[in-house]
Amino acid sequence: YVKFPANINPHPAQRMTMAKIIDALKKSQHAMIESPTGTGKTLALLCSTLGWLEREKEAYKKSSAKVRDMHEAWSVARKTYEDASIAYGHRNDKVSTVKAEYGDGWDASRPFTHKNDVPPPPRVYVCSRTHSQIEQILRELKRTGYAPKYTVLSSRQRLCPLKKSDADCQDMLGDGLTQQERRTACAHYNRHEYVADTMNYYVEKNCAWDMEDFNRVVDEFSACSFFALRNLQATSEIVFCPYNYLFDHNVRRKMKLDIAGAAVIIDEGHNIEDVCRSGTSIELSKAQVAEAIAAFNAQSIKSAPGYYADVYQFLLKILQFLERIINNTGEGQKEVVVRSHEIVGCVIDMLGEHAVELVRNLIKTPDNAKPTHNGPLTTYMNLCEDIANILHLVTKTPESYVIIIGRSVDINGEECEGMCISCME
Ligand code: SF4
Repeated sequence: YVKFPANINPHPAQRMTMAKIIDALKKSQHAMIESPTGTGKTLALLCSTLGWLEREKEAYKKSSAKVRDMHEAWSVARKTYEDASIAYGHRNDKVSTVKAEYGDGWDASRPFTHKNDVPPPPRVYVCSRTHSQIEQILRELKRTGYAPKYTVLSSRQRLCPLKKSDADCQDMLGDGLTQQERRTACAHYNRHEYVADTMNYYVEKNCAWDMEDFNRVVDEFSACSFFALRNLQATSEIVFCPYNYLFDHNVRRKMKLDIAGAAVIIDEGHNIEDVCRSGTSIELSKAQVAEAIAAFNAQSIKSAPGYYADVYQFLLKILQFLERIINNTGEGQKEVVVRSHEIVGCVIDMLGEHAVELVRNLIKTPDNAKPTHNGPLTTYMNLCEDIANILHLVTKTPESYVIIIGRSVDINGEECEGMCISCME
C-alpha cells in the first residue's frame, strides 16, 4: 500500500503513525497523532498520505474508464438500433438484439446517465508553521519515491523577484485583456508559465521537486515565482502552505481556497490556537487607512455609486473615528482599551447606527458584483474586506474581543497611531 524510501524499513512508531493516518483518511475522520521529535513522522506522514492518494487516484481512474467504456458501448448500441430502426422498422433482429441486451425499457432517445460511482480524490492540504518547515517537508517528499502534482502557497511580498508591492504588481499587470495575451509590463510574469511547465514535466517523469529545484528553474527563466506557483495550484493534488492560508478567513477568501471535502494535514498542530487567534484579529495603522482613502481620491471614483462608494465611506468613517479617539486621548494616555460589553457600542461609534448592516453588505457583496480590473485599488479593497470581516466577527462575539486604539499601538511590530482588534479566545 505504501512506498517507503529505498533501503529504509519503517520502524514501529512510523508503522503505527502511517496506519492511523491511512485509517483516518479512508474514513474521512479527524486524527490527532503525537510522535516524539526524531521519530521520522514527516516521512511517515508523507508516505502514508501519498500511498492513500495513489490508491484513490487509481480507483477513480478505473471507475472513470469503466464508465467511459459503458458510454462507448451504449453509443454503438444506439447507433445500431437507430440504423436498424430506420432501415427495417422495429421488426429487425438487430433491434431485438439491442433491446435484449439493454432491456425492454431501453430507449435510444434517452441520454446516457450512468455516473462514476467513485468520487475524484480530494485535494490534500499540508500546512506547517513556516516556509522553512515546508521546505524541509518538500526535501523529505523527494525521498519518498512519489511524485504528485503539488504547489506551495506563499505571498507575493515573499516571492516577487522584483520586490514589488501588491499595488505596484497590479499596476504592471494591467487589465485582464492584456494578461490574457500574456504581454504585461512585467517580463517576469510573461515567462512564469515556462516554470510551471518545467515543474509539471518533472512530475510527468515521476520526479518530485523541492524548492531548490524550483528556484533554480525560476532563475534559469528569470520568471515570476509567485505566479508560477499560482499556476501550478490549478492542477495540484497537494497544496503546501503556512497555517494562515487555511486558518485566516481573509487569506482563504483572497486566495479562493475551498477546503470543503479536502484532506487537511496540520504539521505541529499545537500552534493552531495562536494561529486561529491571529487569523481573526487585525492591526490597522491610521496611515494605512489614510493611504487607502488617498488612492480612492486619486482615482476620482470616491463618489461612484455602488461598491466603490461603500468601500470609500467605510474607510472614511474608520479614519474619522481613529482621529477623533486619538485626538481625545488625554495627555500621557497611550491608548483606549474597549472590552466585551462596550465593544458593539464602539463599532457603532466607528461606523454609525447602521454599522452591522454596513459591515454585512461589504462582506456579503458577491464577487461578480464587485469591480474586477481595478488595478491599484485591489489592495485597498482587500484591506477594506479584511476589516469588515473582522468587524463582523466582533459584532457576533463581542465577548471574545478587545479593541485598542491609540497614539502608539503596536502595529506589526512598530509603535504608531492606529487600532488593534484582537481576538482573545
Ligand atoms: S508579476 Fe511577479 S515578478 Fe512581476 S511584479 Fe508581480 S509578483 Fe513581481
